Amino acid sequence: MKRGCLKRETKSLIIAVQDQALRTNYTKAKIKKSTNDPKCRLCKRKYETVSHIVSECSKIAQTEYKGRHDKAASAVHWSICKKHELPHTEKWYDHCAEPVLENEKVKLLWDFNMQTDKVIKAKRLDLIPINKETKQFHVIDIAIPGDTRVVQKEDEKIGKYNELEFEINRLWKVKTEVIPIVIGALGTISMRHIAYLAEVVVTCLLRLYRRQLC
Ligand SMILES: [Zn+2]
Repeated sequence: MKRGCLKRETKSLIIAVQDQALRTNYTKAKIKKSTNDPKCRLCKRKYETVSHIVSECSKIAQTEYKGRHDKAASAVHWSICKKHELPHTEKWYDHCAEPVLENEKVKLLWDFNMQTDKVIKAKRLDLIPINKETKQFHVIDIAIPGDTRVVQKEDEKIGKYNELEFEINRLWKVKTEVIPIVIGALGTISMRHIAYLAEVVVTCLLRLYRRQLC
């Protein structure tokens, strides 16, 4: 928004959502005291609040939310490709992530199901950049929760992959680190977020963030 790349209508909609100023069914029924049903018009189960619409509605979890998650993951994939000189398009939004990309320095796995000897539930990962020189695995998992749950989600992600991290270390004798990349649905990021991005050296995304934070 600071760079002025968005259409005026998009910008005003984002600001209205961030200010909780959308005329949702919940607002109409509970604040404006209308006779509207305060429930969500899609799932008809929960109150139609802003946070429900942007991150909690079961009806659009597998379509809109999944599409948003995949697009964010694709942007991270693109910036890792750019950093390590793996094939990528000029613009991040044209990028189509390949399951496996590799050069002499790095191997990059996308949407990868880790094979392990032990039965481990959490082993499907968004991105795994493997540095062949330092023998380091970065296990990257991306989430876009409601904005009040960003820090909690980061902690959850780190805990979720503890067992897998241990198993990878044991099987391949490599250094492994879990990197949660969590961005609130309305743009909130934690204090740790920049450090996490720096860890996987997503330099172009990092530059963009720094510009926005200054
Ligand atoms: Zn709903």
